Amino acid sequence: MTKPQHPSPPDAVVVGAGLAGLACALDLVEAGLRVELLEASDGVGGRMRTDRRDGFLLDRGFQVFNTSYPQVKRRLDLRGLRLRPFTPGLIARTPSGRVRVTDPTRRPGDAAQLLPGRVLPGRDLAALAALTARDALLPAKRLRRVPDRTASEALVRAGLSPRAIEDLMRPFLSGVFLEEGLETSARFLHLVWRSMVRGTLCLPAEGIGAVPAQLAARLPEGALRLGSPVAGITDSGVLLADGGERPAAGVVVATDAATAARLLPGLAVPDSRTVTTYYHAADRSPLTEPTLVVDSGLAVLNSCVLTEVVPSYAPPGTALVSTSVLGSGPPGGERTVRARLAELYDTDTSTWETVAAYTVEGALPAMRPPWPLSRTTRFAPGRYVCGDHRATGSVQGALASGSRAAREVLADRAAVRAGRV
Ligand SMILES: Cc1cc2nc3c(=O)[nH]c(=O)nc-3n(C[C@H](O)[C@H](O)[C@H](O)COP(=O)(O)OP(=O)(O)OC[C@H]3O[C@@H](n4cnc5c(N)ncnc54)[C@H](O)[C@@H]3O)c2cc1C
Repeated sequence: MTKPQHPSPPDAVVVGAGLAGLACALDLVEAGLRVELLEASDGVGGRMRTDRRDGFLLDRGFQVFNTSYPQVKRRLDLRGLRLRPFTPGLIARTPSGRVRVTDPTRRPGDAAQLLPGRVLPGRDLAALAALTARDALLPAKRLRRVPDRTASEALVRAGLSPRAIEDLMRPFLSGVFLEEGLETSARFLHLVWRSMVRGTLCLPAEGIGAVPAQLAARLPEGALRLGSPVAGITDSGVLLADGGERPAAGVVVATDAATAARLLPGLAVPDSRTVTTYYHAADRSPLTEPTLVVDSGLAVLNSCVLTEVVPSYAPPGTALVSTSVLGSGPPGGERTVRARLAELYDTDTSTWETVAAYTVEGALPAMRPPWPLSRTTRFAPGRYVCGDHRATGSVQGALASGSRAAREVLADRAAVRAGRV
């Protein structure tokens, strides 16, 4: 644990060094404030951390990095992350066998697979193309204002047939929303679809935790205090779990939603989704390409061979397979998942070694419509709350909420100084 940067009280204390807390702290520092960022755990990143174990890089729950998020473009040095891309498309295991869908604008050579009738009937292909063009080309502001409904209703309104939804869209989007009813906000669907079409899905060479690590490296020395759980918010600042107090005029709670609700009694937070990711090591890669595999049977959300995306995720000569399932896993646990993987990859998985399993409770907020894409972070005078639960359950949402908290802190300070409050 590093010593506090300033012997005098900071101007603002930020609680939680996930993406939202990091973004908020960095913006406040840039505006000239003395900031302390208090993090309960032994590292930054919150839900975006990577463990190193026995030569493996194990993200705490499979997730992908999207290069087109506005906050990502604004804040991150993408070159420094040494990103490796996924194939722009996916393989779906459907009742009629394995089908491959590739973005024809990026892989024109694969466009023949999309001939009407091969993967989807022509009507569905046209509906999908229209949805994609609309979401990619309309200004984001327009998408943010569409009347909100469920993602499922939006897909039907877009003209997709039940077959296209069941075989492709539901299996894929369940892995994005971490729920299979497609009851998530259509506004979020359109924005995510837009970001996928406009950006590249990829992973950093050092694991997903490299993203918050890059942000944390820009904090002034001593601003970050790890191993400093906050137990309560007081009238003068924060109370640490070790009994210490840290006075500050401004306090920003940037924790997960459940902790935020404990620290700020009366704060309404959404319920959340849980996901479990299993990591298996195999002697041979069951799919020699960096492509996401989805399961229309919904037994698993998605799977991929991580080492085909980033070889450094496993020791040389070993393939690392990541597979996510909803909740805390199916009855039968890892064995059930392994059996389904044998069908998905059409291979014998009995010799695969289980490397790790991570169950992430509170992985994403449940974003049911109508879902406001950004909420004020003001909770009480001098008290703020940010995080993905105040925006959208995504890297973009968490960073944007942190950014909004910093703006609101600064605006309120300016108002107090100007005697407007
Ligand atoms: C498995 C999984 C897959 C995902 N996939 C994607 C994806 O593909 N694309 C995408 O864009 N997003 C994805 N997300 C969502 C994205 O990771 C999150 O939205 C984002 O990381 C949330 O950041 P946050 O700062 O709001 O919260 P958190 O990351 O939860 O950070 C909160 C921080 O507060 C700390 N804290 C908690 N209590 C205290 C306390 N009392 N005192 C001090 N500190 C405290 C925590 O330790 C943590 O560091 C995924 C998330 C998960 C879990």
